[in-house]
Amino acid sequence: MKQSGILQLTLLGATGSIGRSTLDVISRHSDRYKVFALTANTNVDAMEKLCEQWQPEFAVMNDESSATQLGSRLRRKNIRTEVLSGVSGLLQVVEDDAVDCVVAAIVGAAGLVPTLASAKAGKRVLLANKEALVMSGKLFMDAVRDNNALLMPVDSEHNAVFQCMPDSLTAHHTSVKMTNSEAKSGIKRILLTASGGPFRTWSAEQLRDVTPEQAVNHPNWDMGRKISVDSATLMNKGLELIEAYWLFDMDIANIDVVIHPQSVIHSMVSYEDGSVLAQLGNPDMRTPVAHALAWPERIESGVEPLNIFDVAKLDFEQPDLDRFPCLRLCYEAISMGGTASVVLNAANEVAVDAFLESKIGFTDIARLIEQTLNAATITQDVSSLELILEADVTARTITNKCISAMH
Ligand code: NAD
Ligand code: MG
Repeated sequence: MKQSGILQLTLLGATGSIGRSTLDVISRHSDRYKVFALTANTNVDAMEKLCEQWQPEFAVMNDESSATQLGSRLRRKNIRTEVLSGVSGLLQVVEDDAVDCVVAAIVGAAGLVPTLASAKAGKRVLLANKEALVMSGKLFMDAVRDNNALLMPVDSEHNAVFQCMPDSLTAHHTSVKMTNSEAKSGIKRILLTASGGPFRTWSAEQLRDVTPEQAVNHPNWDMGRKISVDSATLMNKGLELIEAYWLFDMDIANIDVVIHPQSVIHSMVSYEDGSVLAQLGNPDMRTPVAHALAWPERIESGVEPLNIFDVAKLDFEQPDLDRFPCLRLCYEAISMGGTASVVLNAANEVAVDAFLESKIGFTDIARLIEQTLNAATITQDVSSLELILEADVTARTITNKCISAMH
């Protein structure tokens, strides 16, 4: 934190759902946080409004033409934000010495390079972009440790697990210190909760006819389109299993997925002595964002406290891996190791895009991921970013070919 006591923040993915939640939380705490940089894909209108409101030092657009457009609009309004573009722009705004904290909220593999760079630059990293960790696992966690970064999970389940971990671990000021297995402090299991998505009770036949509109309409959470589809296929929970495996250095056999349709318990940690600690709250991402921003302090997030009498009833079920094969494929990718998680993630991104464009059906998503995992050469060497990005590109080509073959 700078002498002024104000934390300077780069928000990757400012126009998205997590981006909005983050800006809402920090708007309540102008004495603690200042926006240094905002980034987005191509939405110039949304970024123009955000720059007007937040007056950041930098704005980064994915492509040059969006950046040029944004730049000229801001100049016309006498807004002094400097507009950059592409990966070089993203790297500049995460690596700048003025930046204390990076909120990694780009969706998908596109977030990997800047998210990894923020760990390498030793920042406080608020990780929402789970795909980055799924792809780069060990490389990412090593970068956090070697560069003394502070990794705070924003994904609600992982943030809940973090909150249920003993102080003796979290007081190390970095969750990565949890990788000292001797310091596990009696933790036996992690119970990751899942809402089960909008099709939890649907039959295999019904699932075949799911439309994109139905899939993006999540019962409990308001999220971006890609993660909404992932929640509907349970791929999101599979990606979160892999995320928990890396974040908490936990054997996958000791991580349970628990279907909990009310989304009130955000996850649990089970201890040697029989205690099970849970974190509860209304399903609103401003809670984990506020926790990750302020930890070890607590700040107001704008989220209403949970009314336990309104909730009244909590249900728990086993996940059904037959109706939701994406979750099974995640277990398989973990046991294959190496580039398998990269391939799984890439195939999923391509398949979800194709589903959202109505080019394939809902149940084709899992089928395409399985085909890609079978066709790709899985290698165990994931020691460099180049190898990971290469596996990602190759897998996308395979999935796209499989989609073409379907038509
Ligand atoms: P979203 O689609 O609402 O927003 C994505 C953001 O990323 C946007 O700002 C967009 O401009 C930017 N972006 C997209 N493609 C880009 C590219 N190629 N280059 C640069 N920027 C790009 O997504 P979201 O729901 O906010 O999710 C963001 C991340 O957080 C995802 O990894 C998701 O899994 C994770 N997450 C989201 C939630 C949630 O409740 N929304 C919860 C937990 C984790
Ligand atoms: Mg989650």
